[in-house]
Amino acid sequence: MDLPTIGVVSVPRTRDEIDRPAPGVAFLAGGTWLFSEPQDHLHTLVDLTGLGWPALSVTDTGLEIAATATIEQLVSGQVPAEWTAQSLFGECAAALLASFKIWKTATVGGNICLAFPAGAMITLCAALDGEALVWRADGSEYRVAITDFVTGAARTVLAPGDLLRSVTLPTSALRSRTAFRKLALSPLGRSGVVLAGRVDDDGACTLTVTAATDRPYVLRFAAVPGSAELSEAIAAGIPPGAWHADAHGDPDWRAHVTHELAQQIREELA
Ligand SMILES: Cc1cc2nc3c(=O)[nH]c(=O)nc-3n(C[C@H](O)[C@H](O)[C@H](O)COP(=O)(O)OP(=O)(O)OC[C@H]3O[C@@H](n4cnc5c(N)ncnc54)[C@H](O)[C@@H]3O)c2cc1C
Repeated sequence: MDLPTIGVVSVPRTRDEIDRPAPGVAFLAGGTWLFSEPQDHLHTLVDLTGLGWPALSVTDTGLEIAATATIEQLVSGQVPAEWTAQSLFGECAAALLASFKIWKTATVGGNICLAFPAGAMITLCAALDGEALVWRADGSEYRVAITDFVTGAARTVLAPGDLLRSVTLPTSALRSRTAFRKLALSPLGRSGVVLAGRVDDDGACTLTVTAATDRPYVLRFAAVPGSAELSEAIAAGIPPGAWHADAHGDPDWRAHVTHELAQQIREELA
């Protein structure tokens, strides 16, 4: 939709050119959410795509995903064959309620910064021990685990003017075996529960719970847990008030389905 209150769209090419934080100024990435509803409080958009960040960078320690990488670039990117967890990239991307426009335009960073429970890029990055690099508005920067970056439904640690620059996934997680489950109330509906499991080379196992809860939860085990151990870990690790409630699922349903799908993941990984 048109955003009639927007008078300025700036396109910085370097960090120094990024507008100072101010009321009415917002970052624009893919724009798939920004242009999907009225933004009458905004007068300026700062288009991040002009910064020219490479979408995916394979490094000695893992994969750096630029915040501006599109879902399509993430899914079609070339990574080392031994990074078996790449299968999660496509599974998480497909978990988004995504028309082809969303797929081609929406960014990984935009999805994470929106911090919706159904943000499947949050699932991906939380499941693979992703670490966010945040550029502070004052010129400094810091790193934070994605599980701490998202603090609640549509809430993050970002202060006004802070920018998500990238997310780094470590090699150890990228080499893991993974399993994935998603459920929505209707076949093409927004995700109500999205779970990802992982077994590392040393046998350590994690289960990441998203969409069902207000923010991501990662449960860690020394090895693939037994059925009872897994149930107890979910009950102990996710507070009763954390199960999300909206039109895409009631908390009771989300909790129940999480337990069911977690057991399926456990069996698959075992
Ligand atoms: C049909 C449709 C289906 C959708 N399905 C889903 C879904 O299933 N799950 C879901 O989670 N969302 C969904 N969305 C919402 C949205 O499209 C996606 O979350 C998308 O990934 C957002 O990315 P974007 O690049 O388009 O973000 P934008 O719309 O450009 O920005 C989103 C917000 O994040 C901020 N932002 C963007 N990048 C950064 C950055 N690097 N640093 C700091 N702030 C930043 C922007 O200022 C804005 O507030 C859907 C939207 C539509 C229209």
